Amino acid sequence: MMTCRLPLSLVNKIQGRVRYGEPLRNHTTWQIGGPADVLVEPASREDLATILAFIRQEALPLAVIGNGSNLLVSDNGFRGVVIKIGEALGRVNINGERIFAEAGAKLGRVTAVAQAAGLGGLEFAVGIPATLGGAVTMNAGANGAAMADVVEKVTVVDYEGNECVLEHAEIGFGYRRSRLQELKAVVVEIVLHLTPDDPREIKRRSEEYLRRRKVTQPLEYPSAGSVFKNPPGDAAGRLIELAGAKGLRIGDAMVSERHANFIVNLGNARARDVLALIGRVREMVQEKFGVTLELEVKVLGESGAD
Ligand SMILES: Cc1cc2nc3c(=O)[nH]c(=O)nc-3n(C[C@H](O)[C@H](O)[C@H](O)COP(=O)(O)OP(=O)(O)OC[C@H]3O[C@@H](n4cnc5c(N)ncnc54)[C@H](O)[C@@H]3O)c2cc1C
Repeated sequence: MMTCRLPLSLVNKIQGRVRYGEPLRNHTTWQIGGPADVLVEPASREDLATILAFIRQEALPLAVIGNGSNLLVSDNGFRGVVIKIGEALGRVNINGERIFAEAGAKLGRVTAVAQAAGLGGLEFAVGIPATLGGAVTMNAGANGAAMADVVEKVTVVDYEGNECVLEHAEIGFGYRRSRLQELKAVVVEIVLHLTPDDPREIKRRSEEYLRRRKVTQPLEYPSAGSVFKNPPGDAAGRLIELAGAKGLRIGDAMVSERHANFIVNLGNARARDVLALIGRVREMVQEKFGVTLELEVKVLGESGAD
């Protein structure tokens, strides 16, 4: 098996953390995934530029992750460099109705900052365990709203090292998608434009959304949220339930009894168990309804499922 390492001269230049053979299960909410050859958490944009230049020079495979809450990582892990954009790149500032935040900021922190400042419009996202960069890339949404409703622009650094600003219309938002997913670029900063509102009202709505999540989602188990996208005009969970797949289990991966579009890790689920379960659920829904479910989760590593 080929693995890569970074030269010491490069590691010494980087302030952020560099780890070799790091199990990616430690960096995904499903708690599944084999090792990355190299996992780097840049502490600054300079770190990021230094790492990207090296990766480009050596033509190494690269993956970018945030909080790993929408990721199924192969049991074999990832042969190459994984750049994790985390809290070290997570500054959040407010100016009037706008929040200027770095991509590594946890969405929970950004929603709290917005609430405290009396800025409404982001409370739909309370409880989504994402980084802001991951949420924008996925156009994460809930409660009838999505990131596209509040994002004004994003700054990205492409794999060539060029920084550029994409205005809202250039981001190509769609249902759980954006052009950022294909761009070969790292999202580093986001500008949100929110609406002044009474902090008590924002708090009330946020608490209600959180309460509903606790009732409808199996939050006591590791998961990646909804596994499949909703097909047009329907809910994937409804189809999976009616196809009789609730409670279906392969290894320690199980279709949740509480929310049929969640696959939970009961303890030691492997990626191959989840992939087998995904395949089985798809077959059952296809057979019963003639609908092909599309994956919402992103598969990283050598055992692609889509
Ligand atoms: C309990 C639970 C509840 C959830 N509820 C919801 C929900 O209500 N609505 C919803 O939409 N999702 C939900 N999710 C799924 C998930 O939280 C979202 O998809 C989220 O947007 C992923 O963000 P992340 O930072 O974890 O990104 P990751 O999972 O780390 O990455 C997701 C994708 O974004 C890319 N990416 C991440 N950061 C960057 C960056 N800085 N630059 C470039 N690319 C990047 C990755 O390459 C990958 O393709 C839920 C998940 C869980 C576990």
